[in-house]
This record gives sequence, C-alpha cells and structure tokens, in this order.
Amino acid sequence: MIFWKKKQIYLDNAATTSVDENVLNAMLPYFNKKFGNASSSHYIGEEARRAVEESREIIAKSINGKYKEIILTSGGTESNNFAIKGMFFSSYPKKNHIITTKIEHDCVLNACKWLEKQGAKVTYLNVDKEGFVNPEDVKNAITSKTILVSIIHGHNEFGTIQDLEEIGKICKEKKVYFHTDACQSFTKTKLDVNKMNLDLVTLNAHKIHGPKGVGALYIKEELKNKITPLLNGGGHEFNIRSGTENVPGIVGFAKASKLIGKKEISYMSELRDYMIEELLKINNVTLNGSKKEKRLCNNVNVSFNDIEGEMIGSYLNAKGISTSTGSACSSKSKDPSHSLIAIGLDLKSVIGSIRITLSKDTTKEEIDFTLEEIKKTVEKLRKK
Ligand SMILES: *Cc1c(COP(=O)(O)O)cnc(C)c1O
Repeated sequence: MIFWKKKQIYLDNAATTSVDENVLNAMLPYFNKKFGNASSSHYIGEEARRAVEESREIIAKSINGKYKEIILTSGGTESNNFAIKGMFFSSYPKKNHIITTKIEHDCVLNACKWLEKQGAKVTYLNVDKEGFVNPEDVKNAITSKTILVSIIHGHNEFGTIQDLEEIGKICKEKKVYFHTDACQSFTKTKLDVNKMNLDLVTLNAHKIHGPKGVGALYIKEELKNKITPLLNGGGHEFNIRSGTENVPGIVGFAKASKLIGKKEISYMSELRDYMIEELLKINNVTLNGSKKEKRLCNNVNVSFNDIEGEMIGSYLNAKGISTSTGSACSSKSKDPSHSLIAIGLDLKSVIGSIRITLSKDTTKEEIDFTLEEIKKTVEKLRKK
C-alpha cells in the first residue's frame, strides 16, 4: 500500500473514532500525576478511586441507570461476552435458551455459537429488508427455557435502529432478561434502560471519541448477584469483574459520553441525508438499511450493484479517503457480510456494498470531495 503525505479523510467512524481533544486532556493526568491504583487506601489511590466513581456516575446517568449498575470492562467485546455467557451460566442447566438475531456483531454471534457447544439452544431471529426484528417473532420464540433475549440497538453496518421499547415490553411480560449491544447507538440516539426495560446494556468508548480498550456493561441491580463473572480475581467492580481499573480509560470514557448532543446529531443527520441523496443519483445504486428516523445519524451504506465495494474502497483509499466494506472486524477475512445477507441482499449487492460513517468532525467539504471521487471511480470502473 502506498501512502502519500496527503490529508486523510476518515469516513470509517463505525470502526473506531479519533480520541477527542477534550477527552485526551481529561485522561492525561491519570497516566502519571494521578497514577494510583483505585484499590489502594492512600491519597494517590483514593484520587484514582474518586475519578473512577465519578466516571461511573456520569456513564450511569447517560442511560438513566444507577451508579451501582455500571460495570466497567475492557470494551464491547468483553461486555457482550459477559452479558451472554454470564446470564447463561447463571441459569443453566435449569434453563438453556437464548434468543438473538442474524445481524449481531461477531462477538455476540460467536459467544452464542460457543455456548451452543456448552449446551445452549440459540434462536437466531430473521429481520426484514430494512433490518428490523419483528417484536412478534421475539414473543413467539420465547419458551419456558428462555434465559435471555439479546438484540443489537444501532446496527454497525447499515445503521438501523431497533425499536427496543416494544421488545422490552415483551421481555418484561414474559419474564426473560433483555440485553442490547449499544456500542454504535450510544450517545447518537436515546437509550433509556427503564423506558426500554433493559436488564443489560453493552457500551464502549472508542466508537464515541473515547479511547480503545474500555467499555461498560450495565447490569440491572437485582441481576448483579445472579450473573456469573467471567473474570475472577481481587473482587473489583462489585465483585463481578476483577482486574485493576483502567483509570485513564474510564475517565476518558465518561468524558466522551458527553460529547454528542442534539446539535451534533442533527449536524450529522443532515450530512448523512445529503450524502445518501447524492449517492442515489448515481445509476444502479441502492440504499441498505432503514429510512431516516430509524437510522444512525452517521451511517451511509449503499450498494453499487455492478461494481465491487472493495474496488471503490481501494480507489478511495488511494485518494486518502477511508471507508469500509462489510464490517470492519470481518472485512479482512473478505467473507460476505452475514448482516447484509440477513436483510435479503443478493451476493452481488453484498459485494457491491460500501459503508461510509461520519463523525461530528466530518465536514461538508470532505463529503463533497468524497462524492466527487466516488462518481469518478464508478464511471471509470463501469467503462471497463
Ligand atoms: C465495535 C463494536 C463491538 C466491539 O467493541 P470493542 O470495544 O471493539 O470490543 C461490539 N458491538 C458493536 C455493535 C460494535 O460496533
């Protein structure tokens, strides 16, 4: 790969985001000046402890949860594994059934697949063409053996935002636990654990301009002495997730949770809609995922039905523009995306798909330049 020293346009914010300047500044003192172990009972330790607890409070409030209900983890992958395996082992063998969907992140799907080898029965629900789960399907899948329903909130590839309130009502009525993976939706759309009747929620920092390697699992208070820990050790995090706290990371995570407000959301939504509109003017282009209101404010995903997304992506890369095809985690393996297949795309459209994800810092100029380059590339490739 060749990289000129040219300005990079980063449009892969669903894979990760840059750490915001304010987040970085909040973190810095906790690497050296305030470097304490939050478990130590001296001044330096207590300083770190205070920072962790204040951060926990901020993160809890941001989803209308309680301070005691936030367990800090190493990120989305750990939180999803903890939620699913932890709830499974707390109920197995009395109950053994998990309900999820065909469009989950790999860490949810692979945790479920692994559990199947340990005795779990897993239902992978279908979704419709826009990526929505039918709440009735959830209802019909629940049996007397069902432990947990786990459904992604904002989709990492095509941006569809699931109606969790409706599904939450069903889970409550049927007395099964309800988990959501909210890594992509966190701060970008409303997330209220009470209104949505959520028992467990996965969050992470690096999708919201925080640092990598830190996240949280929201666990409803009454479940905290039920869930089986994945990490046993010194009894950190209310005795259910041991390991010395990543203090700078946690401080940065809390700071990042406050970065996106109404203003940023509407800014990104406008830019997203403009970009979608312009892309759809190109021949033989279709939008993947849901319509405006129920779509992540930063997600654009289209298929060029006669060109490979990978080809467009590599042309754009050569121009200094970062985009993605398929999901970032699996794009290296070049397997066609399981999520795009699940929304009914044929193989050509899956291979022809490209994901462009914006951030609060993306400019109109960057989008215009990208659109220009896409149009040129498509024209070139179609002539061949
Ligand atoms: C990024 C992501 C994850 C994984 O989170 P990490 O913090 O990178 O482990 C899980 N689910 C979704 C929807 C994601 O976007």
